[in-house]
Amino acid sequence: MFKPVNLNENFPEMEKKWLKHWYEKGIDKKYREKNSKSDKYFSFLDGPITANNPMGVHHAWGRTYKDLWPRFYNLLGYKQRFQNGFDCQGLWVEVEVEKELGLHTKKDIENLVPGDPKASIAKFVQLCKDRVIKYSGIQTEQSKRLGYLADWEHSYFTMSDENNYMIWKFLKKCFDNGWIYKGHESVPWCPRCETAISQHEMLTEDYKELVHQSVYFELPIIGRKDENLLVWTTTPWTIPANIAVAVEATFDYSLVEGATGQKFWLAKELVKSVFKENYKILKTVKGKELVGLKYQAPFDNLPKVKEVADANPDKFHIVFATDKMILPITTTEGTGMVHTAVSAGVEDFKMGKKLGLPMIPVIEDNADYMEDLGFLSGKNAKKHPEIILDFLKKELNQNGECWAFAIVAYKHRYPACWRCKTELVWKVEDEWYIAMDKTSQLKINNEELRINKTLRERMIDVTKKIKWMPEFGLDRELDWLKNMHDWLISKKNRYWGLALPIYECECGEFEVIGSKEELKKRSVSGWNEFEGHTPHKPFIDEVKIKCQKCGKVVSRTADVGNPWLDAGIVPYSTISKDNQSQPLYLENKKEWEKWFPVNFITESFPGQFKNWFYALIAESTVLENEPPFKRVLGFGTQLGEDGRPMHKSWGNAIEFSEGADKIGVDVMRWMFARHNPADNMLFGYKKADEVRRQFYLMLWNVYKFFVEYSNLEKIDIKFFIGKHQTEKKSISSLLPSKNVLDQWILSRFASIVGSAEKNLKEFSAKDATLEIEKFVSDLSTWFIRRSRDRVWVNSENETDKNNFYETLYYVLVNLSIILSPFMPFVAEEIYTNLTGRETVNLENWPKINEKLKMKNEKLEAEMDIARKVVEAGQAERKLTGVKVRIPLANLNIKTEIDSNLKSISNEVWEVVLKELNIKNITINDKFHYPEKEVKVTEEQLAKEGKLRNLIREIQSERKLKGLKTDQKINLTIPKEFEIDSNFIAKRVLANKIDFGPKIEIE
Ligand SMILES: [Zn+2]
Ligand SMILES: [Zn+2]
Repeated sequence: MFKPVNLNENFPEMEKKWLKHWYEKGIDKKYREKNSKSDKYFSFLDGPITANNPMGVHHAWGRTYKDLWPRFYNLLGYKQRFQNGFDCQGLWVEVEVEKELGLHTKKDIENLVPGDPKASIAKFVQLCKDRVIKYSGIQTEQSKRLGYLADWEHSYFTMSDENNYMIWKFLKKCFDNGWIYKGHESVPWCPRCETAISQHEMLTEDYKELVHQSVYFELPIIGRKDENLLVWTTTPWTIPANIAVAVEATFDYSLVEGATGQKFWLAKELVKSVFKENYKILKTVKGKELVGLKYQAPFDNLPKVKEVADANPDKFHIVFATDKMILPITTTEGTGMVHTAVSAGVEDFKMGKKLGLPMIPVIEDNADYMEDLGFLSGKNAKKHPEIILDFLKKELNQNGECWAFAIVAYKHRYPACWRCKTELVWKVEDEWYIAMDKTSQLKINNEELRINKTLRERMIDVTKKIKWMPEFGLDRELDWLKNMHDWLISKKNRYWGLALPIYECECGEFEVIGSKEELKKRSVSGWNEFEGHTPHKPFIDEVKIKCQKCGKVVSRTADVGNPWLDAGIVPYSTISKDNQSQPLYLENKKEWEKWFPVNFITESFPGQFKNWFYALIAESTVLENEPPFKRVLGFGTQLGEDGRPMHKSWGNAIEFSEGADKIGVDVMRWMFARHNPADNMLFGYKKADEVRRQFYLMLWNVYKFFVEYSNLEKIDIKFFIGKHQTEKKSISSLLPSKNVLDQWILSRFASIVGSAEKNLKEFSAKDATLEIEKFVSDLSTWFIRRSRDRVWVNSENETDKNNFYETLYYVLVNLSIILSPFMPFVAEEIYTNLTGRETVNLENWPKINEKLKMKNEKLEAEMDIARKVVEAGQAERKLTGVKVRIPLANLNIKTEIDSNLKSISNEVWEVVLKELNIKNITINDKFHYPEKEVKVTEEQLAKEGKLRNLIREIQSERKLKGLKTDQKINLTIPKEFEIDSNFIAKRVLANKIDFGPKIEIE
């Protein structure tokens, strides 16, 4: 007997039962070791998840893929590493720890232990580590709950010594190539985190639609009475930093007289949109005629501005012609005269650099105005825009007008910090960069590469060697690589991150240290204080080295590293023997090469082209000039079922654990697997219900049918096992069945074994799942449906009955194996119950026995047509209003199916006749089956119909009374059925039949 199957099974509870089984019986370990002796390698590299919060359901999407393919390749016999990774360092963790502690500024952090900055930083860093440990534990449990089998005891952590020191090695190699430099640039900056936000971190989703007060302001031209430049800006806080005004030399600019008699220069095309009416154009000239004019500006009296003005008399407050390539000017909005604040904008800075303009740095790291800016000093530029606007409104300029011409609310997309969502500012900072456009100074064997290719060009070459899925990924990555700036790798003012191993001496010399050993060798002091600590702040900074040029003692730069360095190095740092020793890249490169480049990575692609994919490619190009991975499967973004991004406050976000308990992870995993990864995905409980009903329960009911009837018939598991398998062998042999339905479903099954393998090898889970869905539907709505009269009380042929059970058994057991990468729990339930074995997780992918010639394309094609004929027949019957249970002598079907009807075998036509409950079929008045018409009288048909009706009534009566399927009854039926009473007794399990006026059951 098989364990009975519950119709109302609690699936999430069933999943938990199997989880317990797997981890208590060490099945997870056996699974991982199954192919440890294999010489076929499947190298999957996990993109580390940020260990900073519990998982959301969107994490389960990628993690389903990350389990699905390793499970599949395990079935195929490949050796694997099964290692998961956690991303640990960086702002994301710092910001959460700050929130927990109620800290708001850098000063708060450094005063965590009052009066002791070093102890404070040590404590803060420890709290960051603790947070990572806590959430990596939670995420591990959640991942297990998802059914994700991995080496959870040995996940990698990007905060590990191995990872940090491997990045040192990478940076050292960049340094040796001559690619590391300190740049002095205008950078996007978060005033809350007090650190630069690299171009990589400015993702489109971090731009917010915001309304700011934009201002049109007047700049009186020196030496031209009542003439002003009319300038527009959306960032009024930068006006104190104004150095110059840009015009486009080729545009027409007009001098316009407004209502007050003042005159303004602006682009001719924008006159109407700015002045509306009541204006007079006095003259129009080309932009180049305005170049060289000088003007007065609102903040000229502030000490710091004065100082710069005095030091740069020729290059202060001048009109210049822009360079289109750097600072393009358009006439779609504004005035065509562009405020240029060299210290507070990327383009402004570049223009300033080209023209040799001075600059006025105006804000501190937290966006407070700096000292020597008069009434502005100490006030926050971002938090209090009104201080600028009020001044411009109230104060009068040399022409007796207020500086502000108009203040207008302006809606635009404005970047925010990816971590804390604070609006960014721009400031000029010294930061460390990796140069993208320099050739190497490093002597290597490949001289041609050294001379001819910059890092950018090498990365482009490497990127093209990778298989990108979806294909547009290649263009997206190349597009980024072609346009990105040099890689900004430093983060100022932060604590929890890679200690950048850059040592810069006062004399200007700097160098990069490439390993712990090298640092030890070079250290002149502080090694003992550092020894025993991880290479993080504050302890790493105890170690000092000596400048190789001038001999002075040098400290490490205070900066930490860009967090994407951490995740990009993992193919080098984490591949190790048993996932727990020193990196094979250092220990045993030959062995490492068996795993590298990795075969496969998969991540949600928005953002990763600039981040993880980019960092992997950059670091691998520098270290080995090789692609780090051969194939990437990118997938879209998960949205709520309402089509909006998931947000807690909108009520459409689902936490993973809640989703798992409500939906069940098998259904969840199936939803992910069947989705086209290139598209964004709508996810929610309603969608989950659809998948459960349309697929999962259909499968469950087929399985239930099998178990219920096998048990009724008392067919023992030994019947199946004895015939089809021994303990060691897989279930692959099968006796040939003469029944066309068996032959057909086996052929269909052979097809999906092949197609699922092919699709999964091409990394298309979607195509594999859709074919499996179609198969399960065929199994349920055709094979089982048409086989109901082959079993139990309906069976009239013992061999045929056994063939049915054997066929279904074979299909279900092997289907459970195929399903195990997708839905491991229900697969385990079906497999273990049907085979009596310990687990499906140690199985092999089913092999189709070629000798059995299971695949029968001709039969599949015939059955396709037959099913179309049946569909048309059912429609025809609906039209005539005669119910299917009433037999018909003939049904004439009009249909467009015209081909190959003759080639369909008699056996298949018999299936059609039975399904439609007819004796003869005619199609389009032309085709007849059987060729020789079966003659039946009206009387015979009526009798047959009545008999069928009677049996149906008795069956439903049995159900109403709650009788078990195998419970016998005493039956009373009308006398007219006497002649068929034996037949009736068999069908409805009657002991004794009496005759009376109506049906009675006891
Ligand atoms: Zn921030
Ligand atoms: Zn020096």
